[in-house]
Amino acid sequence: MDASRDTISELLLGWYDRHARALPWRAPPGTAAPEPYRVWLSEVMLQQTTVAAVKDYFAAFTARWPKVTDLAAAADEEVMAAWAGLGYYARARNLLACARAVAARGGTFPDSEDELRALPGLGAYTAAAVAAIAFGRRAVVVDANVERVVSRLFALEEPLPGSRPTIRALADTITPDARAGDFAQAMMDLGATVCTSRAPRCLLCPLAEPCKARAQGEPERLPVKAAKKAKPTRKGRAFWIERDDHVWLVRRPGKGMLGGMRALPDDGWSARGDGSGEGPVAGPWDNAGRVAHVFTHFALELSLAVHLGASAQPEGEGEWWPLDRIDEAGLPTLFAKAARLALAEAA
Ligand code: SF4
Repeated sequence: MDASRDTISELLLGWYDRHARALPWRAPPGTAAPEPYRVWLSEVMLQQTTVAAVKDYFAAFTARWPKVTDLAAAADEEVMAAWAGLGYYARARNLLACARAVAARGGTFPDSEDELRALPGLGAYTAAAVAAIAFGRRAVVVDANVERVVSRLFALEEPLPGSRPTIRALADTITPDARAGDFAQAMMDLGATVCTSRAPRCLLCPLAEPCKARAQGEPERLPVKAAKKAKPTRKGRAFWIERDDHVWLVRRPGKGMLGGMRALPDDGWSARGDGSGEGPVAGPWDNAGRVAHVFTHFALELSLAVHLGASAQPEGEGEWWPLDRIDEAGLPTLFAKAARLALAEAA
């Protein structure tokens, strides 16, 4: 082991022993590793989502499905509804596929990064995180926080995302053989609480001494990011059809945006649509306003058309859902916003 790797991991692990965040899916530093199921579930939930937002979902999932085999046995619709509001719904579908693959091998997660990587929907990051945190395997775990810390530590001028292979190689040089899970979590914590994006708190940082960006000044300038392309905006139309204190809800197709989720009917909001698509009943329609939502690759402006008709019976499959239980429908955020708009209009 070279001196810098020893120094950096010792400084960081010493800091982690004193300052580790207490999180529901974690074990305190230096104690027995948490269950792989809890580590895996939390890591999937935390992708693109904040710790604060994940806590309640993690508690609800582990109370309802305490073991991976319980989750594997759950109905798709139940899990999709429980996931509603966390976003990036492909994660929930992958979560179920993975839970079922683990259940099929006896309910035990494999303990190596390569075997974990072979599970459905389990990407390189999650495989490394579970291998390190749940099984103590030496694995190089790089999330957005770690990218930032490593870029600054080594004063890397190469812009993201092209610099990712370099960042990974540099992270590899400082990852210790022992306590790999604690090291990974320490890097994440340092990025989340000290080496923050806009205002790194270098005076409190255990890595201030070896940090090259701090020595050069302006560490907040790093990591350099390649200019982002502006997101295109799509327009769409959703339909609120109300009859006898119920609203008509449909199930979205399994593949594609918000796949498998319960939703309001809509006009497909395709890239070429102009938001004037036809609804599943003849109308008349009242315009209730617009809902804006930003997805990974585009922004959506959804106009909401409302039809209140005592005899309305839309075409196609769907269900009449009671208005006073709309919060239990498991609508994804986009449609939950539209439902609030429709109900506010009616109030
Ligand atoms: S010294 Fe400052 S820039 Fe360097 S790792 Fe610590 S907080 Fe980040």
